[in-house]
Amino acid sequence: MNYYSLHHKSPKVSFQEAVVKGLAPDRGIYFPENITPISKEFIDTIGDYSNEEIAYEAIKQFVGDEIPKDVLQQIIKETINFDFPVVEIEKNIGTLELFHGPTMAFKDVGARFMARCLGYFNRNNNNQITVLVATSGDTGGAVANGFLGVKGVDVVILYPSGKVSDIQEKQLTTLGQNIKALEVDGVFDDCQEMVKTAFLDSDIPRTLTSANSINIARWLPQMFYFFFAYKQVYKKNKEVVFSVPSGNFGNICAGLMAQKLGLPVKQFIAATNVNDTVPNYLVDGVYNPKPSKATISNAMDVGNPSNFIRIQELFNNDLEALKTAFSSYSFTDEATKVAMKDIYKNANYVADPHGAVGYLGLKEYKITEEQFGIFLETAHPVKFLDVVTETLPVEVEIPEQIKSVIDKEKEALKIGTYEELKSFLNS
Ligand SMILES: *Cc1c(COP(=O)(O)O)cnc(C)c1O
Repeated sequence: MNYYSLHHKSPKVSFQEAVVKGLAPDRGIYFPENITPISKEFIDTIGDYSNEEIAYEAIKQFVGDEIPKDVLQQIIKETINFDFPVVEIEKNIGTLELFHGPTMAFKDVGARFMARCLGYFNRNNNNQITVLVATSGDTGGAVANGFLGVKGVDVVILYPSGKVSDIQEKQLTTLGQNIKALEVDGVFDDCQEMVKTAFLDSDIPRTLTSANSINIARWLPQMFYFFFAYKQVYKKNKEVVFSVPSGNFGNICAGLMAQKLGLPVKQFIAATNVNDTVPNYLVDGVYNPKPSKATISNAMDVGNPSNFIRIQELFNNDLEALKTAFSSYSFTDEATKVAMKDIYKNANYVADPHGAVGYLGLKEYKITEEQFGIFLETAHPVKFLDVVTETLPVEVEIPEQIKSVIDKEKEALKIGTYEELKSFLNS
C-alpha cells in the first residue's frame, strides 16, 4: 500500500517509509492511496470471528506485503491481548471501555502496534530510530510503555508542564531505559509544534519519527475498536451511533475509516470540550484553529486537531457530505461534571471526564428508539483521580497497572524553547 502526503508536495511512500518517517517532508500527514471495503459477508457474520481475525481483516490492506502474514498476526495478537467490552448503562446507550490495556487509556493499542511494526522494520540493522512524541496526557504513557525496551528505538516525550495528571506524569517519567521525558514550559500545542519543527530540521542527524496519531501505525489500528464494539451489539438490529471524545481527532477518524471499510455506522459524533475548532467549523464552515485551553478532560485540549485534514480527505473536502455522517458538539467542564454525576446516579457507573464528554455527545444528538448509541470510555477514571473524587462520592480503587508507577521517582528535563529541544537531541 502506498501513502501520499495530504500537502501533495512529497512523493508517495510505502507503509514502512510512512511509519518510519511519521510526517512527510512537506509537513503533510500521510493518507492511504486506496481503501477497499471488507466483504459484506464478513461484516454480516462478524460475530463468528475472533478479535484477532477481525483486526487482521481490517488492517491487512494497509500493511500490504511489507510485513509477512504470520508476523502481522503475531503483532496483532500481542497488541490486543486485553478486553474491549461494551457496557450498557442506559436504555439504548452503552460505553465501549477502552481502558483495559497496560496504561489504562485507549492509546495503548496504537502505541503497541506501532512499536512492534518499528521493531520488525528495524530487525536486521542497528540504525537507531528516535521516536519523538508530544503528549497532552495519555499518549506519553502509552508510547513509553509500548516502546519500553524495543531494540534500536529511543523515545523522547514532550509534555506540557503542570497540564497532565499526576498519574499520567508518573507513567511517562518513571520508566527509564530507552524512554526520556522533557517537561515543556507551555501548552500541548507548543509541544506539538516543537516536534513538527524537529522533523524538518536538517541539522538534527538522528532518524526521527513520530508516535502521535499523525503516524499511520498509531492511527490505523484504532479502527479495531469500532469493529469490536459493532460485534457486540449488531444482533440488537439497531442503527449504531458512536460518540467519540475527541482532541486530535485520530480516534474518530479511525472510526470513519472503519465505516469506509463497510462497517455499518449511522452517525459519528465528535464530542469535544471547550476546544471547539471543529464544532464551530461545522456550523459556519470556517476552520479557525485557536490556542488550546486547559480543561478537566486534558487529553482533548487541542486547538488545532492534526487529523481533521484526514477526515476532510475521507469526504473529498465536501463539508455538506461530511455533515451527513458526522456531527460535533462542544461541552464545558461544568456540563461534563454534571454528566459524570448523572451517569453515576442513574447507572452507578463511574465515568472519567473524557467518557462523560462522549456521553454528552449522545445526549445532544438524541438517540432514537431505533438506535443504539455507544460512547467511547477512553481512559480509566483513576487516571483523572482528582476530578473524579472531587465530583463523585466514590473512592476509586487503584488498579495494579497504576500502583506499579505511583511511588517511582519522576525523571524529566525541563525545557522552554525549540533550541533547547534541539540541543538535547544533538547531545
Ligand atoms: C488522546 C485521548 C483522547 C482524544 O483522542 P484523539 O484521537 O486525539 O481525538 C480522548 N480521551 C483520552 C483519555 C485520550 O487519552
